[in-house]
Amino acid sequence: MIKMNSIDKIFRTEEIETVALNSIDFHVAKGEFVAIMGPSGCGKSTLMNILGLLDNPCGGSYQLKSQEVSKLKERERTKHRIGKIGFVFQNFNLIDDLTVEENVDLPLEYLSISRSERKRLVAEVLTRMNIAHRAKHFPKQLSGGQQQRVAIARAVVSSPDLILADEPTGNLDSKNGQEVMSLLTELHKEGTTVVMVTHSDRDVSYADRVVHILDGKVVVEKFKEV
Ligand code: ADP
Ligand code: MG
Repeated sequence: MIKMNSIDKIFRTEEIETVALNSIDFHVAKGEFVAIMGPSGCGKSTLMNILGLLDNPCGGSYQLKSQEVSKLKERERTKHRIGKIGFVFQNFNLIDDLTVEENVDLPLEYLSISRSERKRLVAEVLTRMNIAHRAKHFPKQLSGGQQQRVAIARAVVSSPDLILADEPTGNLDSKNGQEVMSLLTELHKEGTTVVMVTHSDRDVSYADRVVHILDGKVVVEKFKEV
């Protein structure tokens, strides 16, 4: 599913140059659940953004489903992303002046499906995420755990086969974090490939493999003991 080889990412401003990813190799098989760990600033979010085609690397090769995607223009990246990759972020990233159902409907706007089918898909995923009773509410009226469930609903409404979650439990208490992990695990069991950044040993215990990153490179990889 994912084959990254020698990926570099350097952020340059007039005065400083930050090497965020240093010739990193990162591979994920279809259907795998991979957890990424590492200290703050080691390049985890940079890696996730490139994985999710939100940004391009400076060098190296990235094959997503056997297609080279490391040098796509922004418009082509968007085309590759829509309906195929779902994102979940630490700070939920919901749009405050849209209701819950409008937030979840957003990814469907880009796909050519009918209004009635969109309505059905949104209602279905909100029920599944146990948040249908808040469909007409605005994000600020919800708790953190509820907001993250809406964000997961938005990420999965178009049935992507890859979910990228950057510290999805980072802003949640233990109970809500546990619930988010149960939802991600359920999606994984249904065949979705999941790549998740976390600092929590509990979260890692759900993954097939954990990859430790330091200074923009993979330093340790461990498979789950079965
Ligand atoms: P992590 O998610 O592991 O905490 P990041 O991937 O966000 O780390 O950042 C890696 C390094 O790249 C950090 O030193 C960070 O300051 C730098 N960085 C990230 N994004 C940018 C950016 N847009 N411009 C400049 N530097 C950045
Ligand atoms: Mg980060």
